[in-house]
Amino acid sequence: MDVNEIREDASHPQSVMHALSVDVEDYFHVAALSSVISVEDWDRMPSRVVRNTQRLLKLFNRTGHKATFFVLGWVAKRYPGLVREIHDAGHEVASHGYSHQLVYNQTPEVFAAETRRSKDILEDIIQTPVTGYRAASYSITLDSLWALDILAELGFFWDSSIFPVRHDRYGIPNSPRAPYTIRTSGGNLIREFPLSTARVMGLSIPAAGGGYFRQFPYPVFRYLFNQASFDGKRPQMFYLHPWEIDPEQPRFNDAPWFSRFRHYTNLDRCESRLERLLQDFRFGTVSQSYEQPVQDVILMQDDLVQLV
Ligand SMILES: [Zn+2]
Repeated sequence: MDVNEIREDASHPQSVMHALSVDVEDYFHVAALSSVISVEDWDRMPSRVVRNTQRLLKLFNRTGHKATFFVLGWVAKRYPGLVREIHDAGHEVASHGYSHQLVYNQTPEVFAAETRRSKDILEDIIQTPVTGYRAASYSITLDSLWALDILAELGFFWDSSIFPVRHDRYGIPNSPRAPYTIRTSGGNLIREFPLSTARVMGLSIPAAGGGYFRQFPYPVFRYLFNQASFDGKRPQMFYLHPWEIDPEQPRFNDAPWFSRFRHYTNLDRCESRLERLLQDFRFGTVSQSYEQPVQDVILMQDDLVQLV
């Protein structure tokens, strides 16, 4: 089965709307720095998430873009005003879990409890159902596909946690590269909007944003993102973190060099690159992007296992 085969279809215009997403977390929450900063220290760290997210909100307001903000429960509990601000500006609010721990390191019971908690906190603040989810570090992998049934049972209609790539911390290689629907082992349906990858010389190259967006020269990223979308025929998922536009953030100089490279490269260029990207492609919220008439593939959860 080739899940990435594309049939030419006149209903896919060149100007397809891609999904613009922000994972709302602070610079000290990232998995790449977890060896030098523990969860117990988080409350003592100077937080910069509110001002950095507000900068993104200002930028999107200026350029007329709507985005989906996956808010970490830990952040929402401390800064409910920020969640209200995002919602009141007309953006979509979705869940990034509560504790930013990797799903495949949790038990199903712990995952269910913390995911429900994050959803309840967000819904209490915005008084609107929260139906979208993204796992910390894209940690829905073959080891944690059980999470999909829990998400569906908690009332999530869609997920954006599966990266169709080989990576040390995440990924389901060879899984579909455009939005699709999964029928879970428990018989639930959940839509999946995977993180974007381009195919170059037989290899899957991440083209979804974040560190790759900062590390590649901008024209290279633009080429990869366009290639990922099959030249504008399929909607793609772009993501960024508020700390990625903040070169002034406190530095963890004792982190491993590769983690520092991933986290700190080109923080000072990221915001202007984002402005260029917003000019070069059409973007909206995940739900707006889903509303387009895309060719939908339904995969059984077990099919994902067999693709690898
Ligand atoms: Zn995250």
